[in-house]
Amino acid sequence: MKLENFTIERVREGLIKKEFSAQELTKLYLEKIEKEDKKIGAFLTLSPDLALQKAKEIDEMIFLNKKLPILAGVPCAIKDNILVEGVKCTAGSKILENYVAPYDATAVKKLKEAGAIILGKTNLDEFAMGSSTENSVFFSTKNPLDLERVPGGSSGGSAAAVCANFCVFALGSDTGGSVRQPASFCGIVGLKPTYGSVSRYGLIAFASSLDQIGPMTKNVKDCEIVFNVIKGKDEKDSTSVNPKSQIPNSKIEIKNLKIGVPKEYFVEGIEKEVKEKIEKAIKEYEKIGAKILEISLPHTPYALACYYIIAPSEASANLARYDGIKYGFSTMNNEQRAMSNLLEVYFQSRGKGFGKEVRRRIMLGTFSLSVGYYDAYYLRAARVRNLIIKDFEKAFEKVDLIFTPTSPTLPFKLGEKIDDPLKMYLSDIFTVSVNLAGLPAISIPVGKVKNLPVGLQIIGKPFEEEKIFEVAKIYELSTNNQ
Ligand code: GLN
Repeated sequence: MKLENFTIERVREGLIKKEFSAQELTKLYLEKIEKEDKKIGAFLTLSPDLALQKAKEIDEMIFLNKKLPILAGVPCAIKDNILVEGVKCTAGSKILENYVAPYDATAVKKLKEAGAIILGKTNLDEFAMGSSTENSVFFSTKNPLDLERVPGGSSGGSAAAVCANFCVFALGSDTGGSVRQPASFCGIVGLKPTYGSVSRYGLIAFASSLDQIGPMTKNVKDCEIVFNVIKGKDEKDSTSVNPKSQIPNSKIEIKNLKIGVPKEYFVEGIEKEVKEKIEKAIKEYEKIGAKILEISLPHTPYALACYYIIAPSEASANLARYDGIKYGFSTMNNEQRAMSNLLEVYFQSRGKGFGKEVRRRIMLGTFSLSVGYYDAYYLRAARVRNLIIKDFEKAFEKVDLIFTPTSPTLPFKLGEKIDDPLKMYLSDIFTVSVNLAGLPAISIPVGKVKNLPVGLQIIGKPFEEEKIFEVAKIYELSTNNQ
């Protein structure tokens, strides 16, 4: 069986026509991972018992002719900062190396209810901080399209798993681009939903005003299906909302569609080939009737600096809970702790339990929040954030969607940026604004340079994911038919 072409629809069709059982399919995927993941490193933990148990339930439903839920028997993978009950959840960190999740994240609970089969947990940059998955304390994930290159990050394991056909879809998390950028690097589809549309309950917190869980899939249709399963208000996350209901049958008239292209996104730093592919994709839309308008998002040059104050500030508060006492890694046992002073317990456990990048962010964050510096850094960044939000609001008065590249570069080589944090941070230059403004955005593949994919980012108004999907599908259709 060719797992390459397996989409949600294909799995459903195969199950209903009895081409295979859910258990057979699950075994096939698990075997493929066992065999091929050694060279890629997409997974940190496999959960074969959980997967096969669920597959058995699905097979029983089929046997009893019960109505199958939408994701029945569909194999998926979950980024290892999202809790799956009874399975290890490390966040790619030594400090949570042996932490077993005591409950399901709401997004995971919803996937299970929809019949999805969870094959395992995928690699990530420690606490989702990074753009290459090289910050995982365990190992680096490789890009399945070119093993010398990174898969992007921080959801690099999830992106690689989908790209290598180790699963049909995966969940990632996106704080500043971590779903979209790896999706772009691995030639798949990735959505960062509107802030609040997917519950963050059970997602290990990085920067709470920015974090969102998002689907990573092989095509736009699957992305839409998974998003519709995981979205919605959750009483366990007070920032989650039920989006206003979408107008039914609001099919997009391409002729009425106005696409904004911000001039600030096509300046120095962007690779020539990336720029060309994006411009070509935009031309495709123009050819079929969309209106392309140049727009300005004037505060774009400050977005990265703003993000790298806000995100570390929130991270420094969120990561305070890993103190070497409550849970997680500790350099000391109870007896030693009783003999030491408290600060010593913190210093030792946090110093040894957190990796370099995480410690750097905690220091940046505590500095920005500290008395005397708060006004100059955090408060100023919060104000700049408002200006960025206003930029988008103004732009969306004129256009329906905004098109940009997802990443300024093609997938880079392993080791190329790891010793230069500023260079690494620049990978996020086109994605962070979307998180700061809480907007939805998708990355879809729009071509390759040699074997390396380029992603187009489509940004929408809050809660207009549906419009993003429709417009993204138009591209998929037009290129599939060529
Ligand atoms: N690469 C960005 C960072 O390091 C974004 C990470 C993310 O979205 N989780 O913060």
